[in-house]
Amino acid sequence: MRVLVVEDEARIARFIQRGLEEEHHAVDIAVDGDEGTTLAAINDYDVILLDILLPRKNGLAVLRELRERNVNVPILMVTAKDSVEDKVAGLNIGADDYLTKPFAFDELIARLNALARRRSLDRAPLLRVDNVTLDPLTHEVRRGDRMIELTNKEYELLAFLMRRPGQVLTRTQIAEGVWDLNFDNESNVIDVYIRYLRKKISAGNERPLIHTVRGVGYTIKA
Ligand code: CA
Repeated sequence: MRVLVVEDEARIARFIQRGLEEEHHAVDIAVDGDEGTTLAAINDYDVILLDILLPRKNGLAVLRELRERNVNVPILMVTAKDSVEDKVAGLNIGADDYLTKPFAFDELIARLNALARRRSLDRAPLLRVDNVTLDPLTHEVRRGDRMIELTNKEYELLAFLMRRPGQVLTRTQIAEGVWDLNFDNESNVIDVYIRYLRKKISAGNERPLIHTVRGVGYTIKA
């Protein structure tokens, strides 16, 4: 999943980023409330981790602004302040969950996963292109009866394509949706992953579904 971490303490932000990346999630960091609001409005995150005490604009103000702009991504508030008023205020404005610093990384992961799961429940349950199905709840991918085993990154890439069937996606769009802001645009990582996916999705004589649009990018369609 793609995660935005809004956290001004560099040490904590790096700790969270490293941990999430080890679990194969794409992570962007915003160091103050303004940057957090901007990134959250531009990009499509699966979940946002939002500190309350932030420079420029505090977390509650960021939360309020995002909800007013109809940015409905799940938001996990993180705060050193264990005060009941903060929690109630945050939940009233539209936070989805709370975590109090200091926290164990395992708890953070568990809560992020729960929020992301809830979000995928809100989305269309089963994605389908031709006879390929992808279940966002179980992460199961099948072609007809054949189960397809994918790595995390392959899964994310396929889900990104399958949510936009028939749409031609540029490498930049794919990079932004599946990788993160530090993605090296010059690398051929996307092409390599597309190749892996094609091999797994169209085994033997099965019809190819992922098509190259020369000079533009890729599309998935029957
Ligand atoms: Ca802070």
